Amino acid sequence: MIIRVGHLYPDYLNIYADRGNIAVFALRAARRGHELRVDAIGMDDSVVPGAHDLYYVGGGQDREQWLVAENLAHKAQPLIEAVHGGAALLAVCGGYQLLGRGYKGFHGEEMPGVGLLPLETVAGERRMIGDVLLETDLGPIAGFENHAGRTYLDEGAEPLGRVVSGFGNDGESGYEGCRLLRAIGTYLHGPLLPRNPRLADWLLAQALAHRSGGEPPELGALPDELEAQAQAVSAERARSRGGKL
Ligand code: GLN
Repeated sequence: MIIRVGHLYPDYLNIYADRGNIAVFALRAARRGHELRVDAIGMDDSVVPGAHDLYYVGGGQDREQWLVAENLAHKAQPLIEAVHGGAALLAVCGGYQLLGRGYKGFHGEEMPGVGLLPLETVAGERRMIGDVLLETDLGPIAGFENHAGRTYLDEGAEPLGRVVSGFGNDGESGYEGCRLLRAIGTYLHGPLLPRNPRLADWLLAQALAHRSGGEPPELGALPDELEAQAQAVSAERARSRGGKL
């Protein structure tokens, strides 16, 4: 099957090994006999609900976020419709913040958000930098975080996981990321998917379900020895030196 990926603003939001995350999707799909077709969705392109099975929004610093925020906010309605229509989505760091209601900068400046995820983000003084380990429904997830934004989930919103080590959404709640339908937003990068193959496969299965109109398929296991080692190293780093406020 062809999995249609809509990669939002690859020329702007790309600092956290985001292309590497896409490469992981492509390889893991190919090993199961599927093909990834990646379309860049830039400033002049529209989001067309139903046209993509998986959306990807990468990370960027405040500067790049400012450059795309307004344009992305204009794409809010079709993006929300797409996700409510069953498309999968992964948003990392700056992209995660932009999918909430907005981002308030350190000097009070307000960046508009998409309003898909039930959360908002406010910049804090101290950056939260370090390795992170989460416990989630998809098993342990390990990565690296680097953000000044504190992300606050609305009551009842579903986080991606519980922080075992590291800062997470706001350094206080003990939670990280957010899930809604087939969408996941997270601060974890560095890169995220090579060392968290189960998360990559969950998203691919959701994308395939959108493509086929059926249930998410069981994807056959892959060897994943290097992936497991990469996750173990990252998890250990988080345990021994994950950030605390
Ligand atoms: N605006 C984000 C922040 O909280 C972007 C993340 C980043 O630049 N590392 O800092």
